[in-house]
Amino acid sequence: MPKRILVVEDNDLNRKLFCDVLKANGFEVVPVAEGQNVIPAARKAMPDGVVLDIQLPDISGLDVIAAFRADSALRHIPILAVTAYAGKGDEEKIRAAGAKDYLAKPVSIMPFMAAVRGIMAGTPVAAH
Ligand code: MN
Repeated sequence: MPKRILVVEDNDLNRKLFCDVLKANGFEVVPVAEGQNVIPAARKAMPDGVVLDIQLPDISGLDVIAAFRADSALRHIPILAVTAYAGKGDEEKIRAAGAKDYLAKPVSIMPFMAAVRGIMAGTPVAAH
């Protein structure tokens, strides 16, 4: 069974790129554009991993990470955070919030796929 990735990104081109790359690598994708839809979509899809843009217009990605960690059904799902603003201290904040890994934009395909596979390595596959 292909692994399922929730792709949270408000930018249409980036979201399509992430989804296309993941699909080309054999993953199933569930795209989400709005922060308010993330937790309901995650509860429905029960993804094996999440790619999460930290800069969303309606909610901070840090709050989205916290919402995953506070939800007993979702807290085990590994999150790969992606951010355009890699300021000093950002990585620590993102990891402290509970993201398993972190990539700075612009994201290249090979490091992206390596990071996606990396967050799921050694973690149990979610029951679909
Ligand atoms: Mn964004």
